Amino acid sequence: MDIYTAIQTLLNRAVQLHLMVKEDEIYSRNQMLAILHLEEFPLAAEERKNAAIPDLLEEMAVYASEKGIIGDLDIDKEILSSKIMNVLIKKPSEVNGTFYEKYQQDPKAATEYFYRLSQNSNYIQMKHIHKNINYKLESPFGELDITINLSKPEKDPRQIALEKEKRQALSYPRCLLCVENEGYNGRIGHPARSNHRTIRLELTDERWHFQFSPYVYYNEHCIVLSEEHRDMKITKGTFSRLLEFVEKFPHYFIGSNADLPIVGGSILNHDHYQGGRYEFAMENAVEEFRFDVDGFPEVTAHTLKWPMSVIRLRSENKEELMEAAADILEKWRLYSDEEAEIIAYSGETPHNTITPIARWKDGHFELDLVLRNNRTNDEHPDGIFHPHRDVHHIKKENIGLIEVMGLAVLPARLKEELEEIEAYLLGGTKKVQGYHSSWANEIKARYEASICKETVQGILRKELGVKFLRTLEDAGVFKRDLQGQQAFRRFCLSL
Ligand SMILES: [Zn+2]
Ligand SMILES: [Zn+2]
Repeated sequence: MDIYTAIQTLLNRAVQLHLMVKEDEIYSRNQMLAILHLEEFPLAAEERKNAAIPDLLEEMAVYASEKGIIGDLDIDKEILSSKIMNVLIKKPSEVNGTFYEKYQQDPKAATEYFYRLSQNSNYIQMKHIHKNINYKLESPFGELDITINLSKPEKDPRQIALEKEKRQALSYPRCLLCVENEGYNGRIGHPARSNHRTIRLELTDERWHFQFSPYVYYNEHCIVLSEEHRDMKITKGTFSRLLEFVEKFPHYFIGSNADLPIVGGSILNHDHYQGGRYEFAMENAVEEFRFDVDGFPEVTAHTLKWPMSVIRLRSENKEELMEAAADILEKWRLYSDEEAEIIAYSGETPHNTITPIARWKDGHFELDLVLRNNRTNDEHPDGIFHPHRDVHHIKKENIGLIEVMGLAVLPARLKEELEEIEAYLLGGTKKVQGYHSSWANEIKARYEASICKETVQGILRKELGVKFLRTLEDAGVFKRDLQGQQAFRRFCLSL
């Protein structure tokens, strides 16, 4: 291994990909030498053909670790890679300058530029993300997306132990989403972000930031976050900002997780949204029940054929749409229907909230309001409107924004477990994980005649989709049966 050819190749790649200009080569090379504790450079160092940035970075990290410049934990290597890439990309103000220059011509060109940059800078590690298993699945509700998430590498037990030890020791940056992550070195328990950049945005006269998710679960999966570290809160202001965002970026949808535990996302303590350039099944769900929202003549409203309870509002009038959504939110927060098990409050504790999603479509603003309730009872201690126990072997995590729209993000363990079940169905092995056994046996009985090597994967995937729809139905506040749909209409007609 020759560290010098690795350095030269990485510099050449950075120029080819327009991360930096040739004029900065000597300067950047010297910065890299310093990071790698090198004092000289052979000017004849050649470039290596076909070497990609992530591979070069990995090689440098291994070199640094072997030379004792850094430790040998994954986080040590990530910090080093991130620091090296930081040398090769522009400062935040310059990235913002280029972004807005392109934005003046075409918002699409701006987001495409920033998406490419976020990948080329190795902030989004596509090498890991390509390990995910993704497929589409026909269903009565349209084409669902299934992802088995294999992109988060298994952590070294030594690193986990150190993370436990150091937890809460520092509170800077205050969370994973805070703007203070931009350029942050990283440490045990906090990711390396030297190569991280965000785009400054103004939404409802507040300062917000645009970035991509490092895990990109779908095309151009972005995060829009408040400059202020403050709790998630669904308000009229939320609707206003979502609509303003799609007005600025009409080729993106954007939505927010709900603001209560159980029905919200994993981060409730930093106000943020998620969007992207992707069409989920829910977007194409068909209209079911049309109704009027009193006082908002320019807004049309209907429910959707979807396993969860969704009201879709549409209007050309952004202000009126926002007001109508705020009105529905206010009424939903107070709404109880004991027949449908929906109770708005337990004492002072609120249970009702909304997962909203906004789009600009066919000359209209569109706002989907997904009704949520996070109450628990003795029968369903994890949540009445949360995946029930009998589907926990597939998914027990919250049904957040991404699942709501029709993309199942499933845990890595399922890859091997599904392979085990396939072998079991083919009669090869006698055993599957205990929590899958009744499911596996039921599939075996039902498909007895048609299971073979060629069909087994398709059957299992289809059944996995059925289970995912069940988790969404569990999370739906108004059930899909006649009684549930009547209850849904009662609510709509009260608006
Ligand atoms: Zn924060
Ligand atoms: Zn149940």
